[in-house]
Amino acid sequence: MNGWGTNTVPGVVGRVRFQILGNPWSPWYDAVNTSQPIAPVPGGSITVQANPQRINTDDTLNFLIPPAFCMGDVIAHVEVRVTGFDARPDFPGFSESVGAGSPPVTFEPRRTLDLRYVRVNWGGTTPSDATCRATLLTAVPLLPTPMAFIQPLAGTGVVSGGASTSSRRDDLLDDFLDRHDCSSWEAATEFLGSDCPEDDGAIWVLIAGAFPAGSQGNSRHIPSDVCFTAPNDGPYAAHELSHCLNQIHLGVPCPNGKTAPHGDAPGAWPGGGLLADVPFDVTANTTVRGLGGKVWDVMTYCGTVISDGSDNTWPSPQRWQQLWDYIGA
Ligand SMILES: [Zn+2]
Repeated sequence: MNGWGTNTVPGVVGRVRFQILGNPWSPWYDAVNTSQPIAPVPGGSITVQANPQRINTDDTLNFLIPPAFCMGDVIAHVEVRVTGFDARPDFPGFSESVGAGSPPVTFEPRRTLDLRYVRVNWGGTTPSDATCRATLLTAVPLLPTPMAFIQPLAGTGVVSGGASTSSRRDDLLDDFLDRHDCSSWEAATEFLGSDCPEDDGAIWVLIAGAFPAGSQGNSRHIPSDVCFTAPNDGPYAAHELSHCLNQIHLGVPCPNGKTAPHGDAPGAWPGGGLLADVPFDVTANTTVRGLGGKVWDVMTYCGTVISDGSDNTWPSPQRWQQLWDYIGA
């Protein structure tokens, strides 16, 4: 607009359709801006800025690809339209519509994670089933899995965290590891009646009711299939789940003064573990703004939840690739 008017264009709507190459086009889908949970909003629009910023969720029209179209080579066709811009009593305004196609994006299958949660009375609080589900659901977008099966661990009620100390946490993890896995000793003595559990292929996640100062998540081994995490913090749970999925720390000295121990040196990672692009959280339907616009890799200790409710950690592209390779098809 070169400074004319408000230098913005309100009421810009968009729609998209998809094609798995060689197949019929999908129906049209509207933009998802402002929806919660994320879904197309009929007639959804944005105000186009003169200088759109990737970090601002609604500076762009955002679309969701329906799961049925997340396979094979997929192309998108987008239409963007404005009707009656700058209309006045004696002027109907400007109307314009433009369209564009995308190059193909190739989808590959990944394994769907199976997660079982255990409610742990911790810091004097017991998490509800809803809290446990929400905690894990908000971790799923940080992991390269199309979705996750999330259920309570069968036959397990609320577990007592006792004094809620780190040693109690590790005792609990050891108890559940023993319940989950068949040790070589148990396998060797099964004919004598040792209890050798069947591998259910799931990751068991112990979820604390509250996380008083000094509490810390953990996974006793890397990789593992049992971990312990804080409630209501998706990136925190994704960090612990990533330990289970064979990821070690990344030792970035964080602005909060913490450095994750026993990890890779930041110099060994692209950007020193600082993400170059803006992540998008499909659970919250928002960009991840981070601390002062900075977002670090999920395996650092930089993940303090900041005031606007977003977080400052997210998987970096290299982390995503490593998790992708480990999870497998
Ligand atoms: Zn860790």
